Amino acid sequence: MALNGSETQSRPAATPLTLLGLGAMGTALARAWMAAGHPLTVWNRSTARAAALASDGARAADSAAAAVAVNSLVVVCLLDDASVGEVLDDVDLAGKDVVNLTTSTPALARARAAWARERGARYLDGGIMAVPPMIGVPGAGGYAFYSGSPELFEQHRATLTVPAGTTYVGEDDGFAALYDVALLSAMYGMFAGAAHAFALIRSEDIDPAALAPLLADWLNAMSPAVHQTAEQLNSGDYTTGVVSNLGMQAGGVPTFLDTAEQQGVSTELLSPYFALMRRRLAEGSPEEDLTGVVDLLVRPRSAAAA
Ligand code: NDP
Repeated sequence: MALNGSETQSRPAATPLTLLGLGAMGTALARAWMAAGHPLTVWNRSTARAAALASDGARAADSAAAAVAVNSLVVVCLLDDASVGEVLDDVDLAGKDVVNLTTSTPALARARAAWARERGARYLDGGIMAVPPMIGVPGAGGYAFYSGSPELFEQHRATLTVPAGTTYVGEDDGFAALYDVALLSAMYGMFAGAAHAFALIRSEDIDPAALAPLLADWLNAMSPAVHQTAEQLNSGDYTTGVVSNLGMQAGGVPTFLDTAEQQGVSTELLSPYFALMRRRLAEGSPEEDLTGVVDLLVRPRSAAAA
């Protein structure tokens, strides 16, 4: 459909940007921005990946420095923080807006932000909560956490929203990484539980494909419990609204350990959590929820780690 004159004038031009890193995630990001009409300059250590995008309209630069020089907005999506340093240590970042989507720790993200600002750049850190097939797919549920300069986030929000949703979590440069790692840590706990569940049925004539939907539904049904955990952590009262108290749950631990033993399954994934439940029971009250385990996990931070 042809646009009339006023529509042409009112539509803002898609922001040009540079993307460093064309792995599975970087390539997905690149394709999303290209599909949305953003003029894209790319660079990747191994050139074949950049060449593939160049044949579809991206501008492939010969070096990271050359790619950075083209645009003021520079998005970085490399393997880890060390690779970001390797690629950008000798590159002039003065006046650039650097958005770093490389997965990192909060401490490394803070250090990387300071490093970028020392070089005259503005900096925004990001943590992607999506896998590549979710990128650029509306409704797929993918999004990225962002933290750092709020002005920078607002200025580039429209561009950053093209590949995935955006959730800004504060000025602390480390917060995007912290939220990212918090969610992924919970995911690994879920995977650990699912691995144990599959191991329990492994020696029986039970189809894992029959267990899988039951497992998925059960985990979904249980996941809203995190809201109550948050409320209890905020109030400091771990005994209000308790549905299945600590005393009852700790009392049930032998059922789980004995069943694992009978099925020939190691308890190495479950035992640490049960040990914490029992410790909390010894120190707290049987009427509590499981929330007290959170307090047992938290240790004083050294100044260097903060
Ligand atoms: P890949 O392993 O597919 O790609 C890694 C990228 O980093 C490649 O472009 C690679 O270049 C580059 N690279 C690695 N080491 C160096 C180095 N020393 N110098 C220069 N370039 C280097 O990873 P993804 O694209 O999947 O992941 C990129 C980031 O996105 C990671 O931080 C990851 O945690 C994050 N992420 C990934 C998700 C996923 O499901 N894939 C999900 C959420 C976040 P080359 O091609 O030359 O090897």
